[in-house]
Amino acid sequence: MLPRNPLFPHVVELNHQARRRIGCCVYLVYDDSDWALFDIGYEDSVDEIVELVRQLDFPFSRCKAIVATHADVDHIQGLAKAKQILKAPVLAHPKAAVLLEKGDRLASFAEIPAQNIDLPMPAVEVDRRIDDGDVIQVGKLNVEVWHTPGHTDGQLSFRLGELLLSGDNLFRDGCVGVIDAHHGSSIPEFINSLRRIQASDVSWLLPSHGPAFRKDDALIERTIARLETYLHMADFGTCAIDWPLMDQWEQELVEGRSPQ
Ligand SMILES: [Zn+2]
Repeated sequence: MLPRNPLFPHVVELNHQARRRIGCCVYLVYDDSDWALFDIGYEDSVDEIVELVRQLDFPFSRCKAIVATHADVDHIQGLAKAKQILKAPVLAHPKAAVLLEKGDRLASFAEIPAQNIDLPMPAVEVDRRIDDGDVIQVGKLNVEVWHTPGHTDGQLSFRLGELLLSGDNLFRDGCVGVIDAHHGSSIPEFINSLRRIQASDVSWLLPSHGPAFRKDDALIERTIARLETYLHMADFGTCAIDWPLMDQWEQELVEGRSPQ
């Protein structure tokens, strides 16, 4: 048996518990003997995570849910395996559920041919589709579901009192989850999700990568300001809403201007 080292009351994070980086953050939320996992990471790390959970004395039969924040391979490749071992229901947003159930390799980033990334993406049946306003009950705890699209269209966050399991919305250094048209990113929705987090009265953000950190409205403001510039930059391709240079060029073409 291992002594539990909760990150916050009722929350163990398994990289923090192991005191080494296993992969994405895996949050175990518990009350009495009941518990739920939020994300699981790559298939390769499932055995280690399950063994940690066993040594922390959480009975497998009391696992109430394995929840996907979103359907990116580094968060959920191990879901099918974990479900088989823990025999617990899998929960995800309807838009993530579609990808999980067909083992979509493109939208999950399991397959990026241009970078020779070619990973398996085992399909997994989603037992309960969850959306904004739903509640996941863990013992006497009520975990509130927030739909926070932007990084992906089906990304969820989860509120537990003053804590927000905040997915890939924001990391401690002000970085955000990757913006890529192939996996349903939307910069306007991303900004809305960050505004919602900023306006909320949660005190702590528990992201899906890196350390937990105190919600810092100034950091969120700077991040939003950066994303607002992305809305008008060719760098973000079809995720940008416009490209002002094209309007300028059109004007210059009409004027018959030559390079100066
Ligand atoms: Zn991620």
